[in-house]
Amino acid sequence: MIDAVPGISDAMLHGAAALLIGAMALLLLGLLLAVRRSRNAEAAWAEEHVRLETEIAAHARTDAALLTAREVAEAANLAKSRYLVGVSHEIRSPLNAIHGYAQLLERDGQVDPVEAARVICRSSQHLIDIVDGLLDISRIEAGKMKLSADLVPLPAFLESLADMFRGQAAAKELAFVWQPPANLPAYVRIDEKRLRQLLINLLSNAVKYTEAGTITLAVRHTGMVAEFSVSDTGIGLDAEELTRIFEPFERGRSAKARAQPGTGLGLAVTRTLTRIMGGDINVISTPGVGSRFMLRLMLMEPTEAPAASVRRRPVIGYAGPRRTILAIDDDPAQLAVLQSLLRPLGFTVFAASDGAAGIEMALRCAPDLVLLDIQMAGLSGWGVADRLRAIASDARVADPARRLAILMVSANAHEYAAGADGRAAHDGFVLKPFDLDVLLDAIAAQLDLRWADPVAAAVAPAPPIDLAGAAPHLAELRRLGQAGHVRGLEMQLQKLADDVPASLPLVVELRDQLRRYDLKSFRERLDACS
Ligand code: ADP
Repeated sequence: MIDAVPGISDAMLHGAAALLIGAMALLLLGLLLAVRRSRNAEAAWAEEHVRLETEIAAHARTDAALLTAREVAEAANLAKSRYLVGVSHEIRSPLNAIHGYAQLLERDGQVDPVEAARVICRSSQHLIDIVDGLLDISRIEAGKMKLSADLVPLPAFLESLADMFRGQAAAKELAFVWQPPANLPAYVRIDEKRLRQLLINLLSNAVKYTEAGTITLAVRHTGMVAEFSVSDTGIGLDAEELTRIFEPFERGRSAKARAQPGTGLGLAVTRTLTRIMGGDINVISTPGVGSRFMLRLMLMEPTEAPAASVRRRPVIGYAGPRRTILAIDDDPAQLAVLQSLLRPLGFTVFAASDGAAGIEMALRCAPDLVLLDIQMAGLSGWGVADRLRAIASDARVADPARRLAILMVSANAHEYAAGADGRAAHDGFVLKPFDLDVLLDAIAAQLDLRWADPVAAAVAPAPPIDLAGAAPHLAELRRLGQAGHVRGLEMQLQKLADDVPASLPLVVELRDQLRRYDLKSFRERLDACS
């Protein structure tokens, strides 16, 4: 019981208590608000912490990814440099041979021209193979590889491969074993060029990486599947090498493997091609003992009987009026090849080394066909084709019978697609380096030509020739023939053909003898003319 304090009334006491309670409530509220604020701040801070940690982790991941990307790019760069060094090494040796023999030929008489031609042919074929290989990789990578279904006489095909490698093996004193099984189908359907490429890759590696012993080519054919195996008693491969060698640019690491020239591309192309052809390839190998590569492919037997194969005869000339061809190319060597190829066949050939000169020349010589390079300094081949087409259509107004054919000749296979869709100015496309027969077929198709039959020309009696005007040429030919001056003879024959058009059949015949270096028959034929 609280006693009443004198002077302080109950009401005052109640008021003070209420004030105290109010103050405490306010205090409590402030306290609560402060606690809540601090909780909020704590949560916000924790949130920020998590966000920062996430950000740091993301940065670390980006850094790691960038590092990996840089390492990958550096490795790719290194591989590319290694690859370019390898490729230029591979290209250099055949180029040296071509360059050397070309210089000897230029000095005239210092080298047997037939031998020189053989070496140049072989070396340029090797160069073509390298370029083809590089194109293959680019085509495979771009997904543009097309396979053909050729009718391949399998036993003869394998026999010719065996012949090729028997010689290479013998040169290294290695034995070469090839025993064809009795049940080989006579013909199969497969892309012949690609099958040859696969087997050549494996066989040439076997010869390359074997120092002594035996190379064995074997094949088993069951149902529609063939398993080719190429075994050797060579340097072999260890387990680590076996995991890498089918990757591009990868080579064996042993000193013996490194001692051999190579680009590390052969097996990469082989495996990719095999897969594209629906097959697979495996290898077993023991270091120092040897290796065995096994290639499994589908080899379908054709349902229809194969037509008798036609052996192509060399073209020596054509029937009908003389045709004019204009070659436009900024590579003088390419122009020289075209001229020495086409002139002996009886074409009048003009040459221009760029687009503008080509157009001017076309106005003067009115060609029946233009062989046109695409990539040239100044006006490109496509631009020249458009201009020529415009000129030709003007000329056609004056003479409706005139027709100008344009064949694009380019080393860039990808340009073919560009030209084929949308560009109407050209009539056809030939890929450089061109196969002689392919180029001649394209020319014959454009000019509607029929090639002269060399066999008929050889057995038919020499056509009567109007010798009027030809006598001085024939005398000069006789003189050059005695001296064995082949280049002079070619030039003199061209003069004879130009000055005495009626002598063309004789010129064609003489050119054929000259091409075969049969100077004895050449002289006899000239003597028969007098
Ligand atoms: P290259 O022969 O140009 O180096 P390849 O891709 O054909 O390229 O081969 C890759 C590597 O595989 C070679 O460098 C070599 O070390 C190894 N190799 C290939 N074939 C054989 C083989 N028959 N015997 C031993 N090693 C081989």
